[in-house]
Amino acid sequence: MHLIQRILALLVATWLAGCASIASKSPEIGTAPVEQVLSRQHRCSASLTLRSQALLPAQEAAICQDLAAIEQRFHQLFQTAGKPVAHDLNDSLRANIYASSDAFKRHAGAHFNMPTNNGGMYLEGLPDRPGNQAEFVANQNKDGSVLNLGHEFVHYLDGRYNLYGDFCANLHDSHDAPENCPKPAPLTPYLVWWTEGIAEYISRGDKNPKAVALALDEKRYALSDLFDTGYISNGGSPRVYSWGYLAVRFMMERHRAELEQMLSFTRRGDYPRYQALLRGWGSRFDGEFSEWLQQIQPGATSAGTAGAGADNAQAKPAH
Ligand SMILES: [Zn+2]
Repeated sequence: MHLIQRILALLVATWLAGCASIASKSPEIGTAPVEQVLSRQHRCSASLTLRSQALLPAQEAAICQDLAAIEQRFHQLFQTAGKPVAHDLNDSLRANIYASSDAFKRHAGAHFNMPTNNGGMYLEGLPDRPGNQAEFVANQNKDGSVLNLGHEFVHYLDGRYNLYGDFCANLHDSHDAPENCPKPAPLTPYLVWWTEGIAEYISRGDKNPKAVALALDEKRYALSDLFDTGYISNGGSPRVYSWGYLAVRFMMERHRAELEQMLSFTRRGDYPRYQALLRGWGSRFDGEFSEWLQQIQPGATSAGTAGAGADNAQAKPAH
C-alpha cells in the first residue's frame, strides 16, 4: 500500500509539475521558470551548489564557508567518517535562494510544489533513486543573510548520515506536498524532536537565547512529552524548534551513549526499535532534564552567520 501511495504521489507531483510548466508559458497566470528566476549558480564544493536570484559573490563565498563549518561540525559530532546510510545517493545538495520573502512566497510553490507558509524547507526527495536531487529552498533576509540556511543544511546531513529512508519513512505527522506522506500518521514517539532539534542545535551551537529563555519559563515540558512532539499534533513553533533544541542539547550533553544506541536504529531504518527504545526510556530522564533546564547557560559559540536557524516567528511546519 505504501509503495502504491508513493507512486500515486509521484504521478500527482509529475502532473502538478506539468501544470506549473504549462502555467509558466502563460504570462497572465504563470510564474517564470525556476532557471530564469534563480539564474545565478555557484558551486561551493562537490557536495554543495548554490542557485540564487541575487546573491553577491561575497555572500556566496561567506555561505560556502559557513556551511562547510557546519558540515565539519556535524561529521565531528557524529564521527561519520563520511559514510552515509545505506541506499542514500544524495551526494550533493542544491540550495535554492530567493532574493526576498516575497519572491519565495511568489515562486517557490510553483517551482518546488511546496507550501510557502514557512521559513524554508529541505526537500530530500527519494534518496535511493539515481538522479534524485536533494534541494533546499530558502530566501534572503532584508540584510542579505539567508533565512534558515544552516538549519536546512543540517536536515540534509541528518537525512544522509543519521536517518535511513526518505522523509516519509521517518516518523512524523506531516502530510504536506511535495512528499504527501501517506495517512494515517504513525503512532508516536515521532522523530520530530530529534530532526528539528538537531537542526537547531548544530546550526546555532550553544547560542540560542530564545530557547534558553523558554527553559526558565514557568510552562516547561517534560522530556518524555517532547519525544511525542509532532508537526500537526503536539506541535507549534516553540515546542518543535526551541524545545526540540533543548531536548537534543540535553541528550547530546548528558546521554550520548543512549543517543548513539538510538541512532544505530535510525541509521538502519529500524524505526519500530527506535520507538521501543524511547518508550523504554519513559520518564527516566525527566527529573534530570528539569534540573538541567534550571542551570543551562546561553553560551557563546555559534556556527557563523549562516548558522542562524529557523526564524520561528514565521515557521509553520517547515521541515
Ligand atoms: Zn526544520
